[in-house]
Amino acid sequence: MAKEKKHQPRMSFTQNVDRMFDCAAEILELDPGMAEMIRQCNAIYQVRFSVELKGKLRAFVGWRALHSEHRLPAKGGIRYSEAADLDEVEALAALMSYKCAVVDVPFGGSKGALCIDPREFDEEDLEKITRRFAREMIKKSFINPSTNVPGPDMGTTAREMGWISDTYRTLCPDDINAIGAVTGKPETQGGIRGRVEATGRGVQYGIREFFRNPEDVSRAGLSGGLEGKRIIIQGLGNVGYHAGKYLTEEDGAKVTGIIERAGALLDEKGLDVEAVERWKQAKGTIKGYPEARFITDGNSLLEHECDILIPAAIEGQIHSENAAKIQAKIVAEAANGPVTFHADRILRERGIIVIPDFYLNAGGVTVSYFEWIKNISHIRFGRLERRLDEMRGSRIVEVLEHMTGKPVPQEMAHKLSEGADELDLVRSGLEDTMRLAYRAIRETWLDDDRVDDLRTAAFVVALRKIARSYEQVGL
Ligand code: NAD
Repeated sequence: MAKEKKHQPRMSFTQNVDRMFDCAAEILELDPGMAEMIRQCNAIYQVRFSVELKGKLRAFVGWRALHSEHRLPAKGGIRYSEAADLDEVEALAALMSYKCAVVDVPFGGSKGALCIDPREFDEEDLEKITRRFAREMIKKSFINPSTNVPGPDMGTTAREMGWISDTYRTLCPDDINAIGAVTGKPETQGGIRGRVEATGRGVQYGIREFFRNPEDVSRAGLSGGLEGKRIIIQGLGNVGYHAGKYLTEEDGAKVTGIIERAGALLDEKGLDVEAVERWKQAKGTIKGYPEARFITDGNSLLEHECDILIPAAIEGQIHSENAAKIQAKIVAEAANGPVTFHADRILRERGIIVIPDFYLNAGGVTVSYFEWIKNISHIRFGRLERRLDEMRGSRIVEVLEHMTGKPVPQEMAHKLSEGADELDLVRSGLEDTMRLAYRAIRETWLDDDRVDDLRTAAFVVALRKIARSYEQVGL
């Protein structure tokens, strides 16, 4: 966790999340016993193992935390990071519980991490390490399609999920739902179309929904839509890249700054996100990209003037030392926990709107939910109804032509008679989820006098649902 001001006690990631939780629990007047039950992590598994790599034994440590089981399976990504520790995993698992509740994904919360810098290893070694880590987790049922389903997170991709899935299927060949033990898999291995970009898409849909409400936009001191709005992104990874790409290409926003580990790029006219990504892929860094100014102290750009700041890298990036200097009107938390508890208070006092992480980055878990449903139902979305939809559409075209005596223009006829495929359904389900969840959060934000920010509102929405579930199961 990034540093807090010296006169303030430095809080761990878990403490930061818990303090935010407590504000909502107080508003809801949750029974202290119930609050404690929701807040605490139910189970934690720490594993140490060694793998022989290029003739040498290397030792690793990893964790999987199971935060809540009011709904099963519990869901949460696996992170590969040299900075990972147990506290981080617990905090991320808790956020998963609140995230699933806020977007009505009927899962509990979990999270895993392996303390490793994946850039240090080649593909062959990474596969060995991943398969071994997966075996350890599977042995203890911390990976299982009925109880605990991982997905990708920072430092992992569909490739790692494919290895984990294959390991599960090898160890449990008689589990009919084995393919649902992991989400975010490659499409060829039971994955779903649209999962890779889902979190970034969800960030786009969430910000779009915010801008659909002029009252909210004006609370942030802005006006109009997303067109021309200046965005700075920290972290051009899976989430940051896709969010930046869609917000510029489809909504007309401008990405004026990109902050990465090596430094930052700045161009007030707007960066070509796709071109920066190509450069990063080719060179392994954004440094040297010729079409923008390079700033060595990348994080100084967090304090640069813009309309929307999207932290999409790691936690604790906006803390008590820089919160007072943030010039963005909106902080859209694409990463988990990028704003500390104290910084959140400072931003709020300054009238900066924070769109909270566990709502805004819920696109990944939402599409993972769709993937899991596809896996356990053993059928691709759209397979049964697509042709029927096309036939219905064609009939509408025929009726229109019959009634008007004119041919329906070809492009329109094509659109009307096209059945939805898996990607269309995933996108529409994701957009619907993000829009409905924002409305529920907003309603609490506007209607409850004790709630004066979106984060507390989102916590209130989530905790109300989780508490109800626990009450209903009689715990
Ligand atoms: P990623 O590994 O694909 O990308 C992270 C990017 O951030 C990398 O480009 C890395 O170089 C950069 N980065 C790391 N530390 C940085 C720093 N200190 N300053 C600037 N840049 C830095 O990870 P991701 O999957 O995009 O995840 C990013 C965040 O989003 C994490 O907080 C993760 O938990 C959260 N998240 C991810 C998903 C998902 O589906 N991948 C879902 C929900 C939330």
